[in-house]
Amino acid sequence: MTSTTERKCPDCNASMVPISIIDRSRLNEIQSADSVLSYTTPDTRRGWLGDLKAEGTVSAVACSQCGRILLFANKS
Ligand SMILES: [Zn+2]
Repeated sequence: MTSTTERKCPDCNASMVPISIIDRSRLNEIQSADSVLSYTTPDTRRGWLGDLKAEGTVSAVACSQCGRILLFANKS
């Protein structure tokens, strides 16, 4: 997994800080591993209950200068 902490903003070259994207639609759910943003791909297979299995989690960094946000897929 590539570290996202030493990245520079592609726009203004300022340092990027790790952030968490909060999914407001899940605020009422009990805090669990599921509350971490995850992603799927077109090749993602469905489980036997029809649920999509996450390919990994999404991490994010934001530029301390201009506020640009970069998202990264962390394959699990
Ligand atoms: Zn920037």
